[in-house]
Amino acid sequence: MTDWISLAAGQSYPSGTLYVVATPIGNLADLSLRALHVLGLVDAVACEDTRNTGQLLTRVGLHRPLLAVHEHNEREAAERINARLAAGERIAYVSDAGTPGISDPGARLVEAARAAGHAVVPLPGPSATVAALSVAGAMLDSGDGRFTFAGFLPPKARARADAIAGLATLDHAWVVYEAPHRIADTLAALAAALPAGRRLLIGRELTKLFEQIQVLPVSEAPAWLAADPSRAKGEFVLVVEGAAPAAADAGLPDARAQQVLGLLLAELPAKRAAKLAAAITGAPTDALYRLALAQRAEGDADDEATA
Ligand code: SAM
Repeated sequence: MTDWISLAAGQSYPSGTLYVVATPIGNLADLSLRALHVLGLVDAVACEDTRNTGQLLTRVGLHRPLLAVHEHNEREAAERINARLAAGERIAYVSDAGTPGISDPGARLVEAARAAGHAVVPLPGPSATVAALSVAGAMLDSGDGRFTFAGFLPPKARARADAIAGLATLDHAWVVYEAPHRIADTLAALAAALPAGRRLLIGRELTKLFEQIQVLPVSEAPAWLAADPSRAKGEFVLVVEGAAPAAADAGLPDARAQQVLGLLLAELPAKRAAKLAAAITGAPTDALYRLALAQRAEGDADDEATA
């Protein structure tokens, strides 16, 4: 039988290097052999949350010194890590789950290490985005496999509707992350803004015990979520199919027209804003008016929710 650990251990892991290590998004067994080896080899593990990473290391039988790197100390932590790299140490960086830098911290540390002339080596592994895309099947056909990663949508309804409007005309699939307390609002906003038949993949709790992967027309998504209260729990990644070329022409106004509409809508009634946006951009008034009404309804709901 192949000695898998020796396979990982037999490779070269230069000293004075920052190793950016992907960790599981929910299933411990997804930690790669190289990740396991490097986490045991490094002089210290820099991480978003020492408690979380401490638990991960304990579960795989490792004990390494941990260095907390968070929003508030990132610059100072980067200096300390650079000094250790300069002394020839190996340092790993891990975020709470998945691939560092993907809607997660890590970018500043990478930037600082590279600027100081240290090697930065990625150890690829789990990411909710790639996991969801890998089972999106023909939803990726519209853009010949291209996709846009949109991260988290803005939490406020109006900003979220603007962001969705900007993504809605893309000719390829797009990926969105969402938290459980906002999933119902986001699915409602997607259903309001997109053509009813546009396909949506809902990836819930990927790689975990209660993993769910549901592909359905976006108009059915709110009802799917409401049908079972347990469906609103956990972590979500959404893949939205791209607009077909004909639908892109006949459907939503282009991104610039939507942006102009958004600005006017902040000052004017929906009808007037749509008319002016149409005059400025050449986009059809009726499509702009429908969008304006949807955004205004969203905004009102948001105002009520925050009042
Ligand atoms: N860096 C991570 C990655 O590579 O996927 C993402 C970090 S981001 C702070 C966390 C978000 O990713 C969650 O709110 C959720 O939207 C998504 N996510 C993480 N794990 C997931 C899972 N097991 N199933 C579905 N979505 C997940």
